[in-house]
Amino acid sequence: MTEFLHFIDGAFTSGTTGKSFENRRPNDGSLIGMVSEGGKAEIDAAVAAARAAMRGPWATMGVEDRSDLMRAIADGITRRFKDFVEAEMADTGQPRAMMEHAFIPRGAANFKAFADVIKGVSTESFQMETPDGRGALNYAIRKPKGVIGVICPWNAPLLLMTWKVAPALACGNAVIVKPSEETPGTATLLGEVMNEVGVPKGVYNVVHGFGPDSAGAFLTEHAGVDAITFTGETRTGTAIMQSAAHGLRDVSFELGGKNSAIVFADADLDVTLDRFIAELKARAESLQPGVNFGPLISQEHREKVLSYYAKAVAEGATVVTGGGIPEVPAELGGGSWIQPTIWTGLADNATAVTDEIFGPCCHIRPFDSEDEVIGLANDTEYGLSTAIFTSNLSRAHRVAAAVDVGITWVNSWFLRDLRTPFGGSKHSGIGREGGVHSLEFYTELRNICVKL
Ligand code: NAD
Repeated sequence: MTEFLHFIDGAFTSGTTGKSFENRRPNDGSLIGMVSEGGKAEIDAAVAAARAAMRGPWATMGVEDRSDLMRAIADGITRRFKDFVEAEMADTGQPRAMMEHAFIPRGAANFKAFADVIKGVSTESFQMETPDGRGALNYAIRKPKGVIGVICPWNAPLLLMTWKVAPALACGNAVIVKPSEETPGTATLLGEVMNEVGVPKGVYNVVHGFGPDSAGAFLTEHAGVDAITFTGETRTGTAIMQSAAHGLRDVSFELGGKNSAIVFADADLDVTLDRFIAELKARAESLQPGVNFGPLISQEHREKVLSYYAKAVAEGATVVTGGGIPEVPAELGGGSWIQPTIWTGLADNATAVTDEIFGPCCHIRPFDSEDEVIGLANDTEYGLSTAIFTSNLSRAHRVAAAVDVGITWVNSWFLRDLRTPFGGSKHSGIGREGGVHSLEFYTELRNICVKL
């Protein structure tokens, strides 16, 4: 049985609360191990370690050395690739291929990307006139923001966590990570890598626990945390923002979404609406549990998604496929499997159409014009992303600019260049991270004015 310990000041510890909780595999419900639950004392210790690190050699390490260290962390993840794959597969139940080809390599890629970004940073300078005619020179410098609280969700745990930890460390900050209580594995393992490659102690800390009245809330409330980066539900973001208001701490939020995919008749998919639905149904039904699709993270989350499946039917949906729990091999019987589900026929204000469900389901409805579909895509409180499928280039640009989201994919989905801005509009987030945009959050820009 695995023990998931906190990683504070370069050392693993179970802390002082005496409390721990179970971590179970979502694919069969079996126990992976026990996770130490952090309390105020563990957060205090992690904050003290991080603040001490910010006064130590870490604070004076040059950009070249920091960049090299980011590459060493990436190499460290790659060296322990199998361990990361196994840990994340156990925690999330997602298929091996997805781990090996996407999620774990992205963990290493995030560190490499920011190793490059910080070496190419320039800042602005302005010469100005002064009454005595001698002038002055303004130039800006970037300084690390300090101690960053990093709060993560359970989907793609390593990818999403390193998307924050990599730029934070590359910019010279120290971090305290509170991973999701559902997926403690890879954040803990990353602590071992940090020690293996010589990241100074206190620069990377992990405290496990839950949200309210637990490590998550204690971290965001702590006055020694200078800024908070969070990915998770919009409701949780609202609570964290209230904590961050004390001490006027900066936040970067990647929140919930309700994303549209807009398929025009001229899309290069060779389908009419009926054939599109039939094709999507066939593909959804061809997915095999454990082979090319995974379970939901927990029984509780499955209950939530199933309640939406029931609501959709009650609201008049035609169930094209799915709607319940799939047949799975006996050994996966204890897992939180759910059928990929497609509906048609729902009203635009039906709950399943408006709420974020965070399950494998979609509603398909026809539209007659560009204006109509733009209106439909924007008729949501969320604004994370959209995908537009069309062979008409002008239309692609027009619609992309008109849909109010942070990220638009044209004739593709989830292609990511780590130098580009990532984030959501409306209730889907605050701020943009990626490439140089991450510097806006992870550094403080200071102006220095020199009288000549
Ligand atoms: P969640 O908000 O329930 O939990 C996320 C993290 O916040 C967990 O670590 C949890 O312990 C912690 N937390 C909960 N309450 C807290 C509090 N009061 N104070 C401090 N920490 C607290 O989200 P989840 O269920 O883990 O993840 C799913 C959500 O994440 C969905 O809404 C999904 O859309 C969103 N998400 C967004 C993106 C994006 O890029 N925008 C990416 C992935 C997931």
